[in-house]
Amino acid sequence: MKSSIRAAIVLAIVFSVSIYTGMSFRRGHVDEQLYPSAALTSTLKLSAYSPEIAGSRADTEIFEFESGTQGGTVLILGGTHCDEPASYIAAYLALENIEVLQGRALIIPRANRSALTHNLPGEAHPQKFDVPTEHGLRSFRMGSRYTNPLDQWPDPEVYVHYPSGQELSGADSRNLNRCYPGRKGGTFTEQIAHAIATFIEAEDVDLVIDLHEASLEYPVINAIVAHERAMDCAANAVLELQLEGLDFALEPSPPNYHGLSHRELGDHTSCFATLMESANVIQGRLRGRTTPELVLTGHDPMYMKAAQIEMTRVPYDSSGISLEVRVGRHLAGMQKLISSFSGLNPEKQIVISGLPSYGELLERKLGTYLLPK
Ligand SMILES: [Zn+2]
Repeated sequence: MKSSIRAAIVLAIVFSVSIYTGMSFRRGHVDEQLYPSAALTSTLKLSAYSPEIAGSRADTEIFEFESGTQGGTVLILGGTHCDEPASYIAAYLALENIEVLQGRALIIPRANRSALTHNLPGEAHPQKFDVPTEHGLRSFRMGSRYTNPLDQWPDPEVYVHYPSGQELSGADSRNLNRCYPGRKGGTFTEQIAHAIATFIEAEDVDLVIDLHEASLEYPVINAIVAHERAMDCAANAVLELQLEGLDFALEPSPPNYHGLSHRELGDHTSCFATLMESANVIQGRLRGRTTPELVLTGHDPMYMKAAQIEMTRVPYDSSGISLEVRVGRHLAGMQKLISSFSGLNPEKQIVISGLPSYGELLERKLGTYLLPK
């Protein structure tokens, strides 16, 4: 009798835990609510340009902000790598605050939607983090660098990039930023890349800004990477950022490193392809305890030690590198790339407003600009 009661209790516990984890798993597959600014003119689906992804998690929303005044078109890509929170938070903030006075802005905040549905195994990353706003905490999901294996599995031993034939690690077959220009009928991730490249051509996108983060020991950091056609535009932007006290490096896109947006979108479409990197402690190999607070503060005692022995590629001190700093750098870089592009292409002006400056974001904090409406 005693053992039956014990068995019933164990069963009840197992059942409750299964229900709880099952619900939590399901919640991870529901898109977070976004609140586009009043300037939104339409919401499109990526599958409208590549029907083969319709109905799958490869499909994602495209937010269009059309000024009604003739000009150029900028595309902002967030959430290519979903363990890089400043990437998609900057895109969310832009789409929730932007006004477009001339030309058109297109924003894909969740470029790889599948990567937001899981975490990287073995990294102890938090599942979510909370940004304080005056209406309370707003929760955001933390995702992965890669497509969810539920959507693409198994990985090959060696990933052979299409069409270059370049060989990369097997896991990179699920890395959207190693799959451009993608291919029709290819893997799940290649199909996303192909759909984005098709969309860029179909909509005559002039300037692409792909938002990323990297660890502090990674050589390409606090940087704008540019395809050769976009180099003048990026160089002007970097000069202007430097004049405002924001240190950015200018990196040419390596011609023989394939699969990356700044290389393949530049080579296979007519756009100016650029990519930005900010410094994210949570991706670093040298970090200590990994908590949701670390996503927000970027303050890590182990990186303090690493900086003291010059093992970081960016300045690092007790102030950390907060999410405000990283999103602020992305927004500043984005605005300078757009104004620089417009200066060089007067017939394709793009004029945006509504986004905070770097200083304003640091002073007023993220939550001021991420208010649920
Ligand atoms: Zn990245």
